[in-house]
Amino acid sequence: MIVSYSEVAKYQKCPRQFYYGILKGHRQIEMSDAISVGVFGHTLLQRYFGCIKAGMSHVSSVAAMNDKAKELNKTLDFRLLTAWTLVTEYLKKLDFKATALFVENRFLVPASNLTDDPYFKDIEIGLTPDLVIQRTGDFLDVEDFKFTQREWDTTSKQRASQVKIYQLCLESMGYKVTRSRFRFFNTKTGVLSDYSSTMNSLERIHVKQDFLEGVRLVVEAKKLFEAKGEDTYYPRTLNFLECRYCPFKFPCELEFNGKDASNTFKTQYTKRTYDYSK
Ligand code: SF4
Repeated sequence: MIVSYSEVAKYQKCPRQFYYGILKGHRQIEMSDAISVGVFGHTLLQRYFGCIKAGMSHVSSVAAMNDKAKELNKTLDFRLLTAWTLVTEYLKKLDFKATALFVENRFLVPASNLTDDPYFKDIEIGLTPDLVIQRTGDFLDVEDFKFTQREWDTTSKQRASQVKIYQLCLESMGYKVTRSRFRFFNTKTGVLSDYSSTMNSLERIHVKQDFLEGVRLVVEAKKLFEAKGEDTYYPRTLNFLECRYCPFKFPCELEFNGKDASNTFKTQYTKRTYDYSK
C-alpha cells in the first residue's frame, strides 16, 4: 500500500475530512480563492524551475514562466494575477546559483527505510517535494512553497513537519540533505519570506515517530473502508479551528444535523483527479 504525506496530514487534521476527501474522493468544484492562488503559483514556479533544471538561463526561464502565465490568463483571473505578481517579485530577487535537481518529482520510499517495525514492511511513502536544490559538494536543500493568507507564527514554523519528513525520506534513499525550507508567499500582504531548519538528533526521532504513527492510522482507516465501506464512522475533529477552512464544512454540518448531504456532493463537488496512491 502507498501512503502519501498529504494523506497523513489530512487524517491528522480531521478523520472525517480525510473520509470525504481521500476515501470518498470528493473535490469542491469551485475552489476557494486561497487554494486557486496556490495552484496557479505552484504552476508558475514549476515552469520556472523546470526550465532551470533543463539548463536554461534565469532570463529565459522567467520568460517561459511569463508565457505560461499568459497562456493561463484567459479571463484576467485576479487569482492568477496575484500568483503571477508574487512569483515575479520572488524571481526578481532570486540569485539562483545552485542546480534544480528535482522539481515536483514524485518519490516512493519504502517505509522499511525508516523503521524496522514489521507492520510497515509492505508500505511505501509517497512524497512530492516542490523543489530539491543541489548545492556545491552534492549537499541538497528540500523546499515547499506555501501560498498563505496569514503569517505563520514561530511555533507553527518550528513544528511543521512536512519538509522535515521529506528530508528524512530522501536521506533514507541516500541523498545528502542538509536543510529543509518553507518558502512563504503571502497572498494578502505580498510579503515573501522563508523558514529554514536543520534537525537535531532527538527531533529526527520524534518527527519520524509522529509521522509513522500517522501512517499507521491512515493504513487502518483505508483497510476499514475497504472492508466495511460506508458502515465505518470517521469522527469529526474536536479542534473546531480546523473547520474554518475545511472544504467540506457545509456537507459536514448538514450530516451532523441529520440531514442528507448527497445532493450537495452531487452539485458542488466533483471527483478528485489526483491519485494519492501512485
Ligand atoms: S467541517 Fe470540521 S469536522 Fe467537518 S470534516 Fe471539516 S474539519 Fe472535519
